Amino acid sequence: MHRMFAWFALFATIAFSTIPARAQSSRGDDDAEREEDLVTAYKILVNEGILDSFGHVTFRSAKDPNIFIMPRAMPPSLVTKDDLLELRVSDSQPIDPKGRRVNGERYIHGEIYKARPDVMAVIHTHSQAVIPLSLTRFKMRPVVAQAGFLPPETPTFEIRDARGADARGVQVTDSPRGAALARTLATYPAALMRGHGDVVVGASIKQAVVYAAYVDINARMQTQGLLLSPDIKTMDQAELFTPDEFDINRPWEHLKQKTLDEASRAKIDRSQFGLTQTQEKK
Ligand SMILES: [Zn+2]
Repeated sequence: MHRMFAWFALFATIAFSTIPARAQSSRGDDDAEREEDLVTAYKILVNEGILDSFGHVTFRSAKDPNIFIMPRAMPPSLVTKDDLLELRVSDSQPIDPKGRRVNGERYIHGEIYKARPDVMAVIHTHSQAVIPLSLTRFKMRPVVAQAGFLPPETPTFEIRDARGADARGVQVTDSPRGAALARTLATYPAALMRGHGDVVVGASIKQAVVYAAYVDINARMQTQGLLLSPDIKTMDQAELFTPDEFDINRPWEHLKQKTLDEASRAKIDRSQFGLTQTQEKK
């Protein structure tokens, strides 16, 4: 299937189906699982050097799709479950700020959730790998095998097209700027932001994290290739894949294990990954 069509088909399927008010998890409280994955997501993305002091990750509530969950304004490396706040998708405002400072760029998340019913997690990074590409005439193109979920060209958001003539700054600090970014993202899994970073979205926190990791790797590899020659070979249509063709569990588990120390890793039950002895020693 044509890749662009595949993304549109996926978006259309989800966009035009009704989101149940209370999605039920097979394992009980889905939001509790999502909270746990969110804290892990922060650990992974900090460990990989993708989240700097100001990046953020959010998820859409399973019990109410009109709510998203975001940590208060804080260093990503310190995020715990106790720091999470509920915000409305409609206006990106906290339901109960609990006396905490909310994140100034929360509109990125609210406006993307509003525009994309298929999106369950949003990541905004200031990845140093994508910024150089965002400054040039080059579009990010898929060049690494595992980044085949990307479209042939990833769009780049230009804040100057979104802010008023007298307005200042490059940050997405209000709803109109967030809505403009969501329009640039359109139905894609990622968009670069000129001189700023990127947004990466997914149908789950795990998928968004794995995608963010490969966007970072892909951007670095493309830039290094361009340093050698402006005439690089990028992936063609036959080399790209649809989301169901990419098992995100392996990279998610790998990246998660990397955040643990050796003692904690030694206690992991390897059988959950199918790593049991299958052959007798002779
Ligand atoms: Zn930012």
